[in-house]
Amino acid sequence: MSSIKQLSIVLANQIAAGEVVERPASVVKELVENALDAGARQVTVDIEDGGIRLIQVSDDGIGMSSDDLPMALLPHATSKIAELSDLEAVATLGFRGEALASISSVARTTLTSKTDEGEMAWCLASGSAEPRPASRARGTTVEVRDLFYNTPARRKFLRTEKTEFGHIDEALRQQALSRPLIAFELKHNGKTQFSVRAADCEESRRRRLSQLCNEDFVDSALVIDEYGSGLSLRGWVAKPTFSRSRADLQYFFVNGRVVRDRLVSHAIRQAYRDVLFHGRHPAYVLYLELDPSAVDVNVHPTKHEVRFRETRMIHDFLFRSLHRALAETRAGLAADRDE
Ligand code: ADP
Ligand code: MG
Repeated sequence: MSSIKQLSIVLANQIAAGEVVERPASVVKELVENALDAGARQVTVDIEDGGIRLIQVSDDGIGMSSDDLPMALLPHATSKIAELSDLEAVATLGFRGEALASISSVARTTLTSKTDEGEMAWCLASGSAEPRPASRARGTTVEVRDLFYNTPARRKFLRTEKTEFGHIDEALRQQALSRPLIAFELKHNGKTQFSVRAADCEESRRRRLSQLCNEDFVDSALVIDEYGSGLSLRGWVAKPTFSRSRADLQYFFVNGRVVRDRLVSHAIRQAYRDVLFHGRHPAYVLYLELDPSAVDVNVHPTKHEVRFRETRMIHDFLFRSLHRALAETRAGLAADRDE
């Protein structure tokens, strides 16, 4: 008999969960991404005790049928891609089919969902075999209770409620920034933390930005709106007078996805180089749109990293766009110096 054994599905999922589910905020991120992929117009997040006791995400998206519900909890089960070539131009935030399997292996998870076609809603708790009839409007609610209840070693790494909630708040603000046309609400222990409506004009986008970010940033921000070589860059960058001592107000979205990328931050830093004092950091909220096949998002399970095909071109485009926008302030600085 071989000493090598295949892991049970539950154990394999719990191990895989280590990559996706680090803390309550990572659960929120995954569930909200699913809501966005389902075409939600409104996403509501209810948290209890920093997400350690409860994370509940509700959406009004396309929903799941009673047949979908058990499938959704299986590892490597997804409706978003079917073959390798689909990965070339993936337009959804998810595609690995791992999140719900991972989450439900380390927390008590319940899915309730209704589609337009279905006559009623269905509800499935992880660990039970069959969905039960339920009642709700079109859309999905995922309830995640007692995170890491069965993996005490992981539970030990959770911080205080306040710290964990801080991470959730930040994660959801980022997601709300990434999708200006979608309404978001965050509640903690029954109290509304923030609530933003869809913003479809410049004026309402600015208002929404000041609800989600720092008001002073919005007041001092320069508008960016640049197109060229199949790339589009929109958003806001702070004038150098609004620099930060920490790199905390820096949001960069690539095709609606929050991204941290060295090439991007390098290009932006270069553009600010001669207008910012040493040790100060620029603030920005920028949206880069490009052909999905020009960027690889399949780099890491949390998908914060991306790989651009044409790194040089992206770098130059970002640098030139911001450098031009900052030219005015540069001229102002020069005038001050000449006086
Ligand atoms: P992925 O998002 O990578 O496909 P997940 O484990 O996050 O994997 O979700 C598995 C599947 O469950 C999704 O492909 C989708 O079909 C379905 N699903 C999950 N959440 C929702 C939701 N909020 N609304 C509709 N369908 C959902
Ligand atoms: Mg997903």
